[in-house]
Amino acid sequence: MLRSLRYKSLKKPPYNAILRSRGLHLAPPFLLDDYIPRYNLISSTDAAKKRSEAYAHLRNCNLCPRLCGVNRYEKTGVCLIGAETASVNTIAPHFGEEPCFQGHNGSGSVFFSGCNLRCSFCQNHDIAHQKNGFDVTPEQLADWYVKLQEVGGVHNINLVTPEHVVPQVVLSILHARELGLRVPIIYNTSSFDSLDSIKLLDGLVDIYLPDFKVWKDSTSRRLLKADKYTDVAKESIKAMHDQVGDLCFTADGIAKKGVLVRHLVMPGKEDEGQEIVKWLAENVSKDLFVHVMEQYHPRANVGKPKKSVLRSDQSGDIPAHKATNTEVRYADINRPVDLQEVSAVKKAARDAGLWRFVEAAEHGGFNI
Ligand code: SF4
Repeated sequence: MLRSLRYKSLKKPPYNAILRSRGLHLAPPFLLDDYIPRYNLISSTDAAKKRSEAYAHLRNCNLCPRLCGVNRYEKTGVCLIGAETASVNTIAPHFGEEPCFQGHNGSGSVFFSGCNLRCSFCQNHDIAHQKNGFDVTPEQLADWYVKLQEVGGVHNINLVTPEHVVPQVVLSILHARELGLRVPIIYNTSSFDSLDSIKLLDGLVDIYLPDFKVWKDSTSRRLLKADKYTDVAKESIKAMHDQVGDLCFTADGIAKKGVLVRHLVMPGKEDEGQEIVKWLAENVSKDLFVHVMEQYHPRANVGKPKKSVLRSDQSGDIPAHKATNTEVRYADINRPVDLQEVSAVKKAARDAGLWRFVEAAEHGGFNI
């Protein structure tokens, strides 16, 4: 009797249950022996097709849900970026990313300026809400990727806020593979992408790093200045996961392929975070790697005096610190997030069956 029970349990091991209970992010099937970036595996015919698709999109740009339909060689759309170049604010090894991306040498980050969203609370508003950077061609971008790899020894190329420059990004990756690039490409996005965009990136991107920001349409209209953000994000994240699956690592603990979803918990909006993580577990994968982030801080337009307050002031201005919280814009999110709100979202994620989370290292070092 005992022998047959043992035999049964050996024959059908509760594999996922074991992984979940031990938190084995680095066990099979998430452990890779080796990894070759996807852009180094596509044929030259497919590469040529991608190039011509990228140029075609620039001539009639519907590459994000703004659907401007403009010829970017002649005029710009909502994102204010033309066809020949992308605007970049910073290119450097970055040490503010998840440990599995930054490792010991940093993530080779390219911060594009401009954005197709206009989040009232944008944590990078100085570069996202204005064209604050220098222009680079796809060929120059490719040179930078290789410099980051050769000089910086970075673990990946991390394209931050690239939704509005996808054609330029595609051309740069195809050029960089000719120059000897061999580290994975991360597409670090707000998820306000079109399916055409994600399709164009198929075969070129190894890791998708999408935000899932808010759940309610009323919130996306008010805080992101975008209609239907949630529907777009759902579709995009599913398409990303269809391409590259769950996050996988090599034995050094560095992520090489897959999806990691970030959710920045917003003050008073933990109910939206709870809906998001539940949806991810039920519709994408229970093995999805998720980062529930707690570093929200009022920025951009949050906490600025309301225009009516400014008008009533004879001197023409009221310093932000003198306006009361009822007189400032977006007063409901004019505070850091509460740790109980963060815990509520994390609990909902676990209850929904998610188990692979980015956790801060207790020792303050490299934690995988
Ligand atoms: S990428 Fe820019 S031009 Fe193209 S649809 Fe979006 S906002 Fe408009």
